[in-house]
Amino acid sequence: MIKFDVVVIGGGPAGLSAALTLAKSGMEVAVVEKGEYAGSKNVMGGVLYTHPLLEIVDNAVERMVNEKAVERSVIEQNMFLLGNGSVLKVGHRNPEWKNTPNAFTVLRAKFDQWFAKIVEEAGVLIITKTKVEDFIWENGKIKGVITSRPEGEIYCKAVIIAEGVNPILTMKAGLRKEDIKPNMAAVAVKEVIDMPEDIINTAFNVDSKSGVTYEILGEWSEGMFGMGFLYTNKDSISIGCGVLIEELKHRNIKPYQLLDNLKNHPIISDIIGEYKNNVKEYLAHLIPEGGYYSIPQLYGDNVLVCGDAAMLVNSIHREGSNHAITSGRLAAETLVDAFNKGEISKKTLKSYVERLKESFILKDLEKYKDLMPTMEKNQHFIELYPSLFNRLATRFLTVDGTPKTDVEWQIIDSLRNERGLIGLGMDALKLWKGVR
Ligand SMILES: Cc1cc2nc3c(=O)[nH]c(=O)nc-3n(C[C@H](O)[C@H](O)[C@H](O)COP(=O)(O)OP(=O)(O)OC[C@H]3O[C@@H](n4cnc5c(N)ncnc54)[C@H](O)[C@@H]3O)c2cc1C
Repeated sequence: MIKFDVVVIGGGPAGLSAALTLAKSGMEVAVVEKGEYAGSKNVMGGVLYTHPLLEIVDNAVERMVNEKAVERSVIEQNMFLLGNGSVLKVGHRNPEWKNTPNAFTVLRAKFDQWFAKIVEEAGVLIITKTKVEDFIWENGKIKGVITSRPEGEIYCKAVIIAEGVNPILTMKAGLRKEDIKPNMAAVAVKEVIDMPEDIINTAFNVDSKSGVTYEILGEWSEGMFGMGFLYTNKDSISIGCGVLIEELKHRNIKPYQLLDNLKNHPIISDIIGEYKNNVKEYLAHLIPEGGYYSIPQLYGDNVLVCGDAAMLVNSIHREGSNHAITSGRLAAETLVDAFNKGEISKKTLKSYVERLKESFILKDLEKYKDLMPTMEKNQHFIELYPSLFNRLATRFLTVDGTPKTDVEWQIIDSLRNERGLIGLGMDALKLWKGVR
């Protein structure tokens, strides 16, 4: 009989982080990963924040850079509001982030493999090309997993579910009653476009170690609430977008049509230029965007759930992988305490929720719990404001001999005609309530 202290389902950031934390506490751990290798099926924009890795991997930054697990250190972040042919931008550049990286751009196939190697070095067995299909139950408690391999039962004292956004095993464990609904996840599509390193350096005004990010709202999404992105890798760029499944179904639009809109918008097309069609990879994946209200039961007897499987994504701040790594660590620390107490029951594992509440994860998700529903219910935030603000910026900055007071009145008139001053006030209030 194959037996481990803990089986972790899924070798993404959440599962690998949990496995590493457990192994460092001396536990016998197996990670079961259905992909050919860790990361082979995983998709992310992807901006990876360094803070959660610094807590679990010694010299994380040096190792990631030296072992080429990451692309570029993000030194500049921009928000683009696309209008009809124009853009309103907000950005921040801090070259100090080159010396003390806050975040790296990553390609998941590379990054996850690197992370898996660190986890294996700590003594974890990673079983790839193997799917967990069900649990072994005894007296109502999980005692192991049934895998896709012949005679593939693995027994264990506890299981951590880190299966990502499709909560099949979370449901089988009884931690989620029903599958995620179309308003709880976005379909995201992404292309990796080849672009020579020196061209990226010139186009984005960076050196080979530094990178730039753009989050992009507005005209590309045909009035649907969605986020586009463009990130610089070493010698490619990642460009993509995500929109709620519910909206796509309702409007009968395919996600790649939206990606085409984004790539063909004059502002974006100017940035990626002649390289637009140098598509090296095309990827699609779901992002859990249901936020606070969609979090399942996070623990049961002998079982915990973390990362995307627990719906722990802050889509407002494009933070998912850092929540995954941190929740994986917190789930593992909860288990280590429970093992030390000799009781791996609901009663002891409940403290996982307290740990998440004390961390930034549940604090942030609770803070933004009503923002996404507000944006979804108020389509004009996306249908009207990006184009309106672009037109107003164009008017404000066009010097044509009109006295400034008249320009200001023209702007006030436009706001009054297109949204109404009461509407504007209400929207400001809704936004404030959503982020306070
Ligand atoms: C387009 C896109 C852009 C994103 N951009 C960002 C970003 O810029 N920054 C950021 O922080 N986050 C981003 N995210 C979110 C981020 O990717 C996720 O939050 C993160 O990957 C979650 O990690 P995880 O380990 O929980 O799940 P995953 O990374 O999905 O890993 C789950 C793993 O479990 C395996 N698995 C699933 N079922 C089974 C099974 N039954 N048996 C065995 N193995 C199984 C899968 O193969 C996979 O390897 C983005 C997501 C998408 C889709």
